[in-house]
Amino acid sequence: MQTESELEIYIHIPFCVKKCLYCDFLSFAYGEEIRSEYLRALINEIKTFKQTEEARELSIKAQTVTSVFFGGGTPTVIKKESLKEILDVLKDTFNISKDAEVSIECNPGTVDGDYLKSVRQYGFNRLSIGLQSAVDEELKRIGRIHTFAQFKDTYNSAVKAGFTNINVDLISALPGQRIEDVDATLERVLSLKPRPQHISSYSLILEEGTGFMEMYEKGLLHLPDEDSEREFHWRIADRLEKEGYRQYELSNMAIPGYECRHNIGYWQGKKYIGFGLGAASYTGRERFSNTRDMKEYISYFENKKDKPYSEKYTLTDGDLISEFLFLGLRMTEGISISEFRDRFGKELFEVFGKEIEKHISEKLLCRQGDRLMLTRKGQDLANYVFSDFIISE
Ligand code: SF4
Repeated sequence: MQTESELEIYIHIPFCVKKCLYCDFLSFAYGEEIRSEYLRALINEIKTFKQTEEARELSIKAQTVTSVFFGGGTPTVIKKESLKEILDVLKDTFNISKDAEVSIECNPGTVDGDYLKSVRQYGFNRLSIGLQSAVDEELKRIGRIHTFAQFKDTYNSAVKAGFTNINVDLISALPGQRIEDVDATLERVLSLKPRPQHISSYSLILEEGTGFMEMYEKGLLHLPDEDSEREFHWRIADRLEKEGYRQYELSNMAIPGYECRHNIGYWQGKKYIGFGLGAASYTGRERFSNTRDMKEYISYFENKKDKPYSEKYTLTDGDLISEFLFLGLRMTEGISISEFRDRFGKELFEVFGKEIEKHISEKLLCRQGDRLMLTRKGQDLANYVFSDFIISE
């Protein structure tokens, strides 16, 4: 259960060796010079955070940081000493709980055993490795820089380095993918020793500005249809459930006790501060995101002009209610009806009675005591359900 005084921190490292064909994340294959300018600016941003209006609003001294997440991009493309420096500055600035979850994302082909050993020693206690597929032809087709064998080396090095909480990222509905390919990935992942404690499995989404979109527009990309996409998703989720994993969110499965605390925080509306290019923050009332322009980011945090945001807005009461529903319903345990009452001082059924009744009769939502959750069919049509919970004011 979260409390008012808990906070999460996200650090964005926007660098990768090479852009994957499906990727629209804020990441670039920049060289050493820009990387070091960026890291200087990032450290400056964290160090000066205490003096900002947002820090005062959050009264950061009274906040306990329960999770830190280094994401990207590929955080492990930067020197390991830089990771330590960032973590040390965070420790000097924030009150980080002794048992905080401290995660870092990593991609095969960017680290060796020594690197991972150091990262573990610095205090990172959760590693998230981008595999996406265990079929080499698929990895090549989506523009990944590694093979399954290289992933296995990284995985074994991570275990050897002492990581006991490892996530493996998968993507399904890849171009040309067949159910046999999905099964092959599952078998290979489940044959890892020890098995990963956590598996994320998202379906590929065709995004603007990606290499895949360009291919699609030229008729060169053949993606599985919607029915196959759902079939692949459930093939993975059901098999993992049989193997002792629990699907706790639409796309996330874990051995019980190893759910990602940081991401659960997002879905439960916990406050978070993001540092780095384009990083988003939420203070309980305001959402704001740093500029997505690298030059602007570096020059601001070196020279301190007006802080450049890519967006900044105050949430209305209606926004907060809508978010409570569509973020909370991503979790398979759903939302608590009494928590809604405690937070908003009104009854959930007074606000959304008609919509909830409709989705219960369509078998997209179900109620179990105090909780309301998506059914299996509701998970397939989650966006349709969520769209009914938007309050426009
Ligand atoms: S490694 Fe991840 S962040 Fe980097 S380009 Fe590939 S998908 Fe995007």
